[in-house]
Amino acid sequence: LPTVVVVIGMAGSGKTTFMQRLNAHLHAKQTPPYVINLDPAVTALPFTANIDIRDTVNYKEVMKQYNLGPNGGILTALNLFTTKFDQVLNFVAKRAPTLKHILIDTPGQIEIFTWSASGAIITDTLAATYPTVVAYVIDTPRTTAPATFMSNMLYACSILYKTKLPFVLVFNKTDVVSHDFAVRWMTDFEEFQQALSNDTTYMSSLMNSMSLVLDEFYSHLKVVGVSAVTGAGIDEFFGAVEEARVEYETRQEKQEAERQ
Ligand code: GDP
Ligand code: MG
Repeated sequence: LPTVVVVIGMAGSGKTTFMQRLNAHLHAKQTPPYVINLDPAVTALPFTANIDIRDTVNYKEVMKQYNLGPNGGILTALNLFTTKFDQVLNFVAKRAPTLKHILIDTPGQIEIFTWSASGAIITDTLAATYPTVVAYVIDTPRTTAPATFMSNMLYACSILYKTKLPFVLVFNKTDVVSHDFAVRWMTDFEEFQQALSNDTTYMSSLMNSMSLVLDEFYSHLKVVGVSAVTGAGIDEFFGAVEEARVEYETRQEKQEAERQ
């Protein structure tokens, strides 16, 4: 069975550019992926999608018809698409035997996918059949402030517990800023506390307690630094996806054993 990679991340973190890079990389390796675009609002897609939500629903029409703002329009478009997701699964199933990867791009605004019933239905139904991995894309240059870093990690943490899927943290845009600082903060608790204590704009006691929660979260993660623009780190990313797939399979076997 192919591995499903669901690409999630804040608006502007580089999900779509990363998808384009993954797609090009897999084409070069003669193992083209199956690509699904779930962002109804993207204007120009830099890769060819096998399934594109925009072919099914026009979110601008949805906005007009239901008198919604952009976010409401995108969410409603996703809901309408999800009602036909069984058809998507049929298409995917036909191609699955010849595939190694299924890549999924999600709407720019992260919460539309991660906190909606549709997002949950899509991830859960895929994960019921295929080894499924979440790639959480982070805008590295925008997360160098300790407090921003921590809120981003807490957000990632809440998504990990919501999806209950193996997770790869993807520090993107390393062509602009290296992700070394992030790796140090995640492995050396005291260094992060030191960085935090220099940031007087936040309640440091609260931050200290929350960073303890994160320590536990980090132990469940795979971390890679990439540049979607230059292609740096993409091999490491696929290495992490392989490990995450093994994690998925181990968990499935455990659940299977518990059922018997
Ligand atoms: P999305 O909203 O998460 O899908 O983000 P996009 O893929 O549309 O990218 C948002 C912006 O970040 C665009 O201007 C991209 O060119 C830029 N970007 C994406 N990945 C990288 C990267 O690896 N390095 C640099 N320097 N810019 C990037
Ligand atoms: Mg995008």
